[in-house]
Amino acid sequence: MVGRERTDSMNISKMSPHETINLDHGDPNMFESYWRKMSEKCTLVISGSQFMSYFSDSKNVCWYLEPELENEIKRLHRVVGNASVDGYHVVVGTGSSQLLQATLYALCSPSDDSNPVNVVSAAPYYSCYPELTNFLRSGLYQWGGDARTYNEGGPYIEFVTSPNNPDGRIREAIVKKGQGKHVHDLAYYWPQYTPITSCVGYDTMLFTFSKCTGHAGSRIGWALVKDKDVAKKMTEFVCINTIGVSKESQIRAAKILGHVSESCLNPGPDNFFETGQILTAERWEKLRQVVAQSGMFSLPHYPKNQCLFTGKFSIAHPAFAWMKCNKEDVEDCEKFLRGQKIITRNGRRFGCDPKYVRVSLLGKEEEFKLFLERLLAIQGTSNGIN
Ligand code: PMP
Repeated sequence: MVGRERTDSMNISKMSPHETINLDHGDPNMFESYWRKMSEKCTLVISGSQFMSYFSDSKNVCWYLEPELENEIKRLHRVVGNASVDGYHVVVGTGSSQLLQATLYALCSPSDDSNPVNVVSAAPYYSCYPELTNFLRSGLYQWGGDARTYNEGGPYIEFVTSPNNPDGRIREAIVKKGQGKHVHDLAYYWPQYTPITSCVGYDTMLFTFSKCTGHAGSRIGWALVKDKDVAKKMTEFVCINTIGVSKESQIRAAKILGHVSESCLNPGPDNFFETGQILTAERWEKLRQVVAQSGMFSLPHYPKNQCLFTGKFSIAHPAFAWMKCNKEDVEDCEKFLRGQKIITRNGRRFGCDPKYVRVSLLGKEEEFKLFLERLLAIQGTSNGIN
């Protein structure tokens, strides 16, 4: 049976007040309470004889993509209205991490140029971009740094992350010189994180099951790709890398995405994105309340916009807090917080000043509460969190 309930994830025993809390990774545990309530509706049984083949649909450019998953991906985008799907090829990957690499490969080959293509993104950029770009020392591409200061001619690739990881801002491509190709990483372009202000239709758009519903463990990501040749190349990359993507994961993702669409179409308390938005808004409200008690830390502010999905005006409630330490004697905020048993990600990893850190707000409720308590203690302010 798929969907076996793990007792460890249900264990809600209290964390020790002295325990180190790890808010480095964006592990999306906060949505677990919603999915626990939906458990019956999203349980899946797969028999021993199912999904044995490498292939799913030999007529599809992405031949290992289960038709059920393709249908549910397209349906969900139509329901939410965040991205165009008509005329796009869907390429699925083992997380969008695999697709980021597949995209670089696809956009750089075939290459007549003997020089690797520069890959850039505006700081603060997602810390994995430089790592995944340079990891295999490809002859096709290399990390070219901060898009804001990039000033070379010739071909380049720009990762445009919107809303951005780490700072939650809505972004557009910024490099003006040279012949650029853009990869729009839209991992967080879902209503629980940000108002959906338009239905975007970029050439190459990446999404992930991890951040959409919180199912990071299934390792499913998808790309919406306009150009058939690019989609073919991306499929080739996944084929050489892992000969496709787990069918069990695809089927589970299809079932859960299908549930999310249904929950939006049938108004009621089970609406996934509305529940998610209440959770993220609550965390942000509490965090802002704590940070406002002293001037020691600051957080970004977001404009109010109408969300086309909910119809309501709201601000963004990003998955991460991009927090700046204003204490003059603290040069490295990550180190400072580590001393207080709070693990965060250093601003340097995002191409920025170490006075900044990225704090995951997606973790378990208990961790989040402990984080707030520790922030209050660091600031020397009184406890007032409920
Ligand atoms: N892009 C962005 C901006 C992300 O934050 C993440 C996950 N942290 C990914 C891509 C990759 O997600 P996954 O591999 O889990 O699909």
